[in-house]
Amino acid sequence: MQKDIQLKLTPSEAVDDKVINQYIAQSLGTKETGVTGFYKLKQSMDARGRQVWINLTVKAFIDEPFHERSITPIPFKDVSEAKTKVIIIGAGPAGLFAALKLIEAGIRPIVLERGKDVRARRRDLAILNKEGRINPESNYCFGEGGAGTYSDGKLYTRSSKRGDINRILNLLFQFGAEEKILYEAHPHIGTNKLPDIITAIRQQIIESGGIFLFEKKVVDLIIQNGILKAVATSDGDTLAADAAILATGHSARDIFQLFNEKQLLIEAKPFALGVRIEHPQALIDAIQYHCAVRDGYLPPASYGLVEQVNERGVFSFCMCPGGIIAPAATNNGELVVNGWSPSKRNNPYANSGMVVQVKTVDAKKYFEKTNADFSKFQNSPLLLMHFQQAIEQAAFIAGGGKFVAPAQRMIDFCENKVSTDLPGCSYLPGITSTGLNNVLPDFIFESLQKGLVAFGKKMRGYYTNEAVVVATESRTSSPVRIPRDTDLLTHPEIQNLYPCGEGAGYAGGIVSAAMDGERVADMIIKKER
Ligand SMILES: Cc1cc2nc3c(=O)[nH]c(=O)nc-3n(C[C@H](O)[C@H](O)[C@H](O)COP(=O)(O)OP(=O)(O)OC[C@H]3O[C@@H](n4cnc5c(N)ncnc54)[C@H](O)[C@@H]3O)c2cc1C
Repeated sequence: MQKDIQLKLTPSEAVDDKVINQYIAQSLGTKETGVTGFYKLKQSMDARGRQVWINLTVKAFIDEPFHERSITPIPFKDVSEAKTKVIIIGAGPAGLFAALKLIEAGIRPIVLERGKDVRARRRDLAILNKEGRINPESNYCFGEGGAGTYSDGKLYTRSSKRGDINRILNLLFQFGAEEKILYEAHPHIGTNKLPDIITAIRQQIIESGGIFLFEKKVVDLIIQNGILKAVATSDGDTLAADAAILATGHSARDIFQLFNEKQLLIEAKPFALGVRIEHPQALIDAIQYHCAVRDGYLPPASYGLVEQVNERGVFSFCMCPGGIIAPAATNNGELVVNGWSPSKRNNPYANSGMVVQVKTVDAKKYFEKTNADFSKFQNSPLLLMHFQQAIEQAAFIAGGGKFVAPAQRMIDFCENKVSTDLPGCSYLPGITSTGLNNVLPDFIFESLQKGLVAFGKKMRGYYTNEAVVVATESRTSSPVRIPRDTDLLTHPEIQNLYPCGEGAGYAGGIVSAAMDGERVADMIIKKER
């Protein structure tokens, strides 16, 4: 007999297979020896009370031989001789999962990536962190695997209706992710493990006969009579395409500019901008687990906070327990922070984005005060992108260069005081004490001030000068949408061009971008058939 059984266990019980076996037997009223084995189907944590509980659903095998979880690997075809070729611009999750899906259906993908492969990319990140020098083509956003490669690798998404989340998780497992991503409520992979998974995906694409080209930056779209014919790359190549998937991510400003210059339809898209907050991880653990010291069986704690301030959302974003704040800009002269964690999340700091919703009207008001040339671009679809860039530039200047980030202690930030000193911080290029009111627009600064005070009431201990506020968290999502036809998924003015993933405005995160890549690939497959 096989049975799905729900158990409520303490953290130490939940890691002990023998104890779980005992509970299974107890709940079925059978002998322990009759339980031949189990595997986990779902695991979540309930940390609301003093006692933390682990809610576990297991598939138990009773009086019959135990079989490990079996996931049939997705088979990939040999597409080396395939007639149809699809160019994929960008090797982030959207581009990679689109490529895999096309191969499954016998279509040959040609992946063009402006950055380097994951290993070479790592060297550029080291230079950025240690010397404050950025490679505009190879950084935390650009390069194989896209923006999520050197990240926490959080794999949860609210976009469950947009695709098959389990399929994405199964594929990540097939390419080397740990089994626990299949059952944990909030799975994550970690920066140290993601590069191998991305490499395995690339190897599969190449082994199947797909083409993968690095340092191949698309700079133009060749369109004739409204039909995409080819793409041009910065090294002077022109590559013909039956179709192209544009999966260039939220930081490819040159792609947004290209659309704008060619007068192709794009739209300004509201996004969110703010800061990254860092606390000692031990403090977040103590708050969330209601204890002085975290039980060794519990993972480093995380949090999610949201508050409406003057009818504007202020919310935490991409929380990285045991993580590091990273310089996530793509150009010199712009300061962007984001966060990552290793798989064990074992750094002494907890960081999270803390951002405020930004609309077109906000950018207009900001530029009216700050930019004498505003009338020239006030109706541009790139308005919010210019706004995002202006704040990043202000932050870079305030930091004094080399990606040193302007920062303030949390209570000082809320009380408008420049901090006399700053606490230790994981951000490797370094932080410098600055009044962030000189960097952030008033509506963002004031919303964050009120939001942080409110969060301190929701999470006692959160509002503290032990925490540091680092500017600026600006690449939360794309400030531009590249529209697409709701049925055909192509750009409304360009046949055969499929805007896709986070850059086009159809995803926000690794899994949702991967699902969008699959969705667009499915449409191409359908059309082909
Ligand atoms: C530091 C960091 C941490 C993050 N942590 C998480 C997390 O834990 N969980 C999560 O869900 N999300 C996280 N994100 C967000 C996540 O990475 C993105 O949502 C996701 O990667 C978007 O996927 P995408 O494929 O649409 O675009 P991207 O991943 O941005 O990929 C776009 C790719 O296109 C390439 N490209 C751009 N322009 C061109 C061009 N002209 N020619 C050729 N190639 C081009 C880029 O180099 C890049 O590789 C994080 C992001 C960062 C930066």
